[in-house]
Amino acid sequence: MPVFFFFFMPSPFFLVFRLARKIPSRVSSSSPFSSRSFSLGDAPAGRFSSLLREFSKDVVGVKSVHAQIVVNDIGSEQRLATVLVSVYRDLGCLEYARKVFDQIPHPEAPICTAVLVGYLRRELYDEALAFFELMRSRDLEIDDRACNFALKACSMVSDYERGMDVINIAVNKGIQRNQFLASSMVNFLMNFGKVKEARMIFDGLRVRDVVCWNSIIGGYVQARQFNDAFVLFFEMCKYGVRPNPVTMASMIQACEGVGSLDLGKSVHGFVLCLEMGDDVLVLTSLVNMYAKLSDVVNARRVFDSMTTRNLVSWNAMISGYVQNGFVHEGFELFSQLLKNRCRLDSGTMVSLLHGCALTANFESGKMLHGFLYRAGFELDVILGTALVDLYSKCGALSWALSVFSSTPNKNVITWTAMLVGLAQNGHAEEALWLFSDMQQEGVAANSITLVSLVHSCAHLGSLKKGKSIHAYLLRNGYALSVVNMTALIDMYAKCGKVEHTDRVIHYSPVSEKDVVLWNSLIGSYGMHGFGDRALAAFHQMKEEGVLPNESTFVSLLTACNHSGMVEEGVALFHSMQNDHNIRQSEKLYACFVDLLSRAGHLKEAEALVEEMPFNSSSASLEALLNGCRTHKNVDLGVKTADKLLCLGVANPGVYIVLSNIYAVARQWDKVDHVRQLMRQCGLKKTPGYSLIEIGNQLHTFLAGDSSHPQQPEIDQIVDNLKTEVEASGYVPDTSCILRDVDESVKVKLLWGHSERLAIAFGLLCTPAGSLIQIIKNLRVCNDCHNVTKYISKIVQREIVVRDANRFHHFKNGKCSCNDYW
Ligand SMILES: [Zn+2]
Ligand SMILES: [Zn+2]
Repeated sequence: MPVFFFFFMPSPFFLVFRLARKIPSRVSSSSPFSSRSFSLGDAPAGRFSSLLREFSKDVVGVKSVHAQIVVNDIGSEQRLATVLVSVYRDLGCLEYARKVFDQIPHPEAPICTAVLVGYLRRELYDEALAFFELMRSRDLEIDDRACNFALKACSMVSDYERGMDVINIAVNKGIQRNQFLASSMVNFLMNFGKVKEARMIFDGLRVRDVVCWNSIIGGYVQARQFNDAFVLFFEMCKYGVRPNPVTMASMIQACEGVGSLDLGKSVHGFVLCLEMGDDVLVLTSLVNMYAKLSDVVNARRVFDSMTTRNLVSWNAMISGYVQNGFVHEGFELFSQLLKNRCRLDSGTMVSLLHGCALTANFESGKMLHGFLYRAGFELDVILGTALVDLYSKCGALSWALSVFSSTPNKNVITWTAMLVGLAQNGHAEEALWLFSDMQQEGVAANSITLVSLVHSCAHLGSLKKGKSIHAYLLRNGYALSVVNMTALIDMYAKCGKVEHTDRVIHYSPVSEKDVVLWNSLIGSYGMHGFGDRALAAFHQMKEEGVLPNESTFVSLLTACNHSGMVEEGVALFHSMQNDHNIRQSEKLYACFVDLLSRAGHLKEAEALVEEMPFNSSSASLEALLNGCRTHKNVDLGVKTADKLLCLGVANPGVYIVLSNIYAVARQWDKVDHVRQLMRQCGLKKTPGYSLIEIGNQLHTFLAGDSSHPQQPEIDQIVDNLKTEVEASGYVPDTSCILRDVDESVKVKLLWGHSERLAIAFGLLCTPAGSLIQIIKNLRVCNDCHNVTKYISKIVQREIVVRDANRFHHFKNGKCSCNDYW
């Protein structure tokens, strides 16, 4: 009854039975059913070795052979133990392998290496390095292979110190010329940017195979020393070493690095001569190179020529399309990839998300997000960051925030994407809050984070927060690069501290001041109406040998404009072409028209608009229109407004001026027409708001706002102010109220303007005599400008208002802008 027989037979017997049938001669003569009589006896170690190899897929089999080895007391025979370790290791039983090793009194190099390889394969790098330490402490033999593997472990855990220890051991033992080890050493050193050291090892080699050459050439490419890579490549060919696909992939990458399409094409030709025209690695590198060098057509040609493609090839082509702005083609290829039922990775998805972000394509982005979800992608930090960036760029902040909050292991790039998103979508204050969260989480900011924060502070006019970020930069040893300095100058200027900008510029070395930095400084002087300082900075800039550009003159003209320096402005406008060879662009003309019309030279401004070498641009006409409003030239105003309407306007601010002009001219049908246009275009007047910083907190007021917790006190102060300014001779100018309501209602609306509420709150919360600083997002209206002058005199305070155009310093009944703004 065979069934019973098997049922009762203990399994080791069965195995021994199976074993026995394979063991030759003497052993097989014994009865297989008696464990005592069955013994592998003195079967030589070699036979056990071949037996182990035969059982290499069968753990139980290997274990029983192991048992016999122990019974036969030949477990410490080195070669047999090495085989046993390798077999256990390959079966994934690393603990058994290690136990075998531990029982050998004096393990030789091969068995040590076998264990070391086991740790590396299981990616247990720390254990591998601990094992290597044990080898050293027990003074076991360390050969080139052991060094090689230990070095790989050091690379994986990025441990430079220990890696150098291993290299020193190899050099002391004189085994550094082994080709494998040498290649590893070169790779290791290159990974840590130690180009010179790697080169020394490479130069010390007598024989260099293609792997060695690839290590050094690849290292130079990674270090972005492309010329050295090319020199070595030619040397390699001179020595008669035939390049392999890895070499060529590096060289293609080098062409991409130097940005030379011609060079890339010749390397492509060379690849074809080497008959590598069907190698996936080489062809994918070519696709990548052509795409990065903006030659999408050739990238696609190479891609189409590929007989086999892997996911990396697909990703290269898809991201190539997306990065060159061919988002549609990228998506088409993506659907082809889906049809081919290839497995996707997050690389593909990230480049597509990036494409949607580039084009701010919210709908496609959402679709992809849904796809990710259905395809079972886990939201990791890379995908999360891409999604946050995408939704931020599309202005879909609530989506961005929801992805942000569920992204695990957020890194500095994720945080920065969210911060920049908030800042750029007008939520500067929330960006600053997020920054404190980021600090609490212990994530260190990078320069992009900090620049966007400085911009946020500038936008909010929050000097305290701006200063604290400046301090953070200094404290954490961020080199004040030109970008940071430019941002800081802008911030201090927008927060009303021109004197701080001087300090920033003073501390920056001459060599680091570029034209952008100077422009920012000149612009900040202009914003505060310090035209003379702006001109002085311009002269200093020229003395320091920095050439001005178009933006410099835009800032200069604006500065002259805000300071009423017409003569200087005219001189500058003529000198820019004659002395500085800068073309008088449309933008510069618009600035110049603005300068003339603000100063009341409306005839000259009108003539300039007529004579411009371009079709009259809306910017110039808008400037002229503003001048007409300020100087109450209704006829020219209406003429200009008519022209602007023909051009079509996209700026809601302009519609307001237009309807103002028509209202002043009592052309009510046109006022209605303009309003209708606004509605048709979907343009709504941006709601005005004012900000004031009290203590560490920013307070925001909207027009007609009554939501502030201290509203009763604020209302009381507004009422008092109203009585007092009226007693001093203030008469309300209701022309900026466009609503068709009673005069008394218009006056009431004026007193609800956000800057008045903010000023009242400032008076409530700050000590007598101190400065009040307010930020208004739009241009200050005529009446608020007028009433603020009165208030400054009555309360004996300096009131600084930053509006969309410039700074107004109100003091003792006057404003620094001389009523031109
Ligand atoms: Zn107002
Ligand atoms: Zn003013």
